[in-house]
Parts: sequence; structure tokens; C-alpha cells
Amino acid sequence: MSAAKKRDYYEVLGVSRGASQEEIKKAFRQLARKHHPDVNPGDPSAEEKFKEINEAYEVLGDPEKRAAYDRFGHAASGAREAGPGFDPFSGLGDLFEAFFGEAQPQARRGPRRGRNLGYELELDLEDAYKGTTVELELAREENCPLCDGTGARIGSPPRTCRRCGGSGRVETVQNTLLGRFVSLQTCDRCGGEGRVVEDPCPECRGAGRAVRRRRIEVTVPPGVDEGTRLRLAGEGEAGTRGGPPGDLYVVIKLRPHRIFTRRGRDLHCELEVGMAAAALGGELRVPTLDGEVTVTVPPGTQPGAVLRVRGKGMPVPGRGDRGDLHVRVKVVVPRRLTQRQRELLEEFARLTHERTGESGKGFFRRVVDAFGPDS
Ligand SMILES: [Zn+2]
Ligand SMILES: [Zn+2]
Repeated sequence: MSAAKKRDYYEVLGVSRGASQEEIKKAFRQLARKHHPDVNPGDPSAEEKFKEINEAYEVLGDPEKRAAYDRFGHAASGAREAGPGFDPFSGLGDLFEAFFGEAQPQARRGPRRGRNLGYELELDLEDAYKGTTVELELAREENCPLCDGTGARIGSPPRTCRRCGGSGRVETVQNTLLGRFVSLQTCDRCGGEGRVVEDPCPECRGAGRAVRRRRIEVTVPPGVDEGTRLRLAGEGEAGTRGGPPGDLYVVIKLRPHRIFTRRGRDLHCELEVGMAAAALGGELRVPTLDGEVTVTVPPGTQPGAVLRVRGKGMPVPGRGDRGDLHVRVKVVVPRRLTQRQRELLEEFARLTHERTGESGKGFFRRVVDAFGPDS
């Protein structure tokens, strides 16, 4: 696939991924002016560059295409050109058209690779963490097993089309006020195939293909992330005329987790710590995706402090290491106090000269100290 070599569209336009539509438009205008072939005559690289800029803007300039690009990268481009004609997946969502767009109609007569299919797989974070095996059920076009995709009854192979002589195209001549126009059009008798099935296969009635429901087992490795694409080679649609089958792309979607938020390889969570525990320090039990661990809260821990638990984040696919777990401390102030607790806290406040109630003097004195006596 040439898509792999393509530069990132954001990079092409020199904008950040969070850029507004207005910023993207502005960047495009500036670049287009600079690299327009008319401004750079005789410079072939300018033309390439100009094309690249245009292509990037076509996608990023359109909020819908941009959203698809953000999720699927270059594989998403062409989503609009995929066109009608095949939809055994109705209900899977428009974005998957992106994967149906590979087979182009121009080379009808040679072997043609089957189309790629897309499947959105929703997983819990726990499954993404440990890895799992899932059985997908999908419908795909396959070659008819009886005629092996030819569409013809066994023993009566398709014949060369008499109308086009096997070329798949016919000349049409149009006489208009402006003159004669000769154009080549797809042969209507064979549909451009160049061959005609005269005695169709009884199983598929000449189609050569049939939509079948299949169960396919997918092994999801540990550490997959939102948008991770797993490629199952050869599990797409059947090719035609002996062409190889397409691939199946399983796109991971993660369900939100009630405790953890994932950012790349790291996990983040919040932990409530009592006021006294935060001040005094101590050990606390913290949940992780594989059991609880003990975390040391140092004395004097502030609200919002982040404690890092190494190696308790997500595994990195294909590598041995793991991300970290970041535990954000939420200091909890008691809403109600018993008589005894109140006495102790009042004494604590006296000892630390803390301002309580209406006597605001201490507070203002401290401000004056901080800014110096002259201010
Ligand atoms: Zn024909
Ligand atoms: Zn058949």
C-alpha cells in the first residue's frame, strides 16, 4: 500500500493536531501560494509539493473527513470514493467504507484482488490489557465453491464475448454539431469482462460469488489501544479471476473504564486520601488492572499530587515493557466533625497559627509580609 509512505497531513500543512478549521485554512492558503507551480516554473518538486498540500487540505479542511483521518489515518482517505455496490455490513458505520475502497474498476479483465473489509471491535480495558481471543461474525463475498468463482457450469467454461471480441470495450460514435466523437465504452453485453457465461453455475446462478456469514477468530494481543488496527491477511473478500483475497482490518474501540483513563501506555486514576493521611503519610491500597498494590503516600502529600506506580500501566505491544500507573491524590476534607475531632482540629489550628472563623488578621499580615512592608 502506498498509504504507508504518505506524510502525515498535519505535518504537510504544518499545523498541530488540535488546530482549528480556521488555522488549517490559513496554513493551506499560505502554503498553496508559496508552492503554486506558476510561482515556481520548471521546478518539478514544487508541483509535487503543491499536490501534497492540496490533498492534505481536502481532508483536513473538511471536518468530517478530518475526523475519519484522525481515527484511521491515511486508510480513511478515499472513504467517499468507495461508492455504492457492496454493503453486506450495513449497520457497521460509514467509516468502514474506508476499507472497501481498494479495488478499482478499471482493470476488470485481469486478476483482481478482493476488497478489504473492516470490523469495529469493542473491548473493555481489561481485555486490552491482558489480550484476548474474540470470535467475530461477519458477512463477506466469497467465491462460489462449486464453480470456483467463474460463474459457469463445470465443463462449460465462459466464452469470449462476441460483441466486444473479448476486449470488454466497444467503440461508440456520436455525431454532434461539433463533429464526430468516438469513445470507448464498457461493453454492455459482458459488462467489461470480455467473457460471457452461457451456461451458468446452478449454485450461484452465474454470479460466481455469494455472500456468506463467517465466524473468524481474532487474537487480540495485550496492549492494543483505541484505533489499533489488526490486519488479518486474506480474510477480506474473495478476489476475482484468480486474484488474491483482500484483508480484514479489525479496528479496536475501547469502552470507557470506571476507574482508569488511558493515555498511551500509561493509566491514570484518582484516589481519595483523608486529610490526616495526606499530612501524616502512610500506605494505601490502590487498584490496578491486575490486582491491588500498596502505594506509599509520603507525609505532606498535597491535593492533586500524582504518585507514580511503575510498570502498572498498559503493556506495549511487541515489547516486554509496560507503562506506569499515575495515581492522582484527592484530599478529602471531612464534611462533619464529632465534638472530639473539632477540639483536636481547633488545637491543631492554634498550634499552626492558622486563621479560623472571622479573625482575618493573621491572613492579612502574611500578605503584607509576602509583598514587603512598602507595598
Ligand atoms: Zn463484451
Ligand atoms: Zn457458482
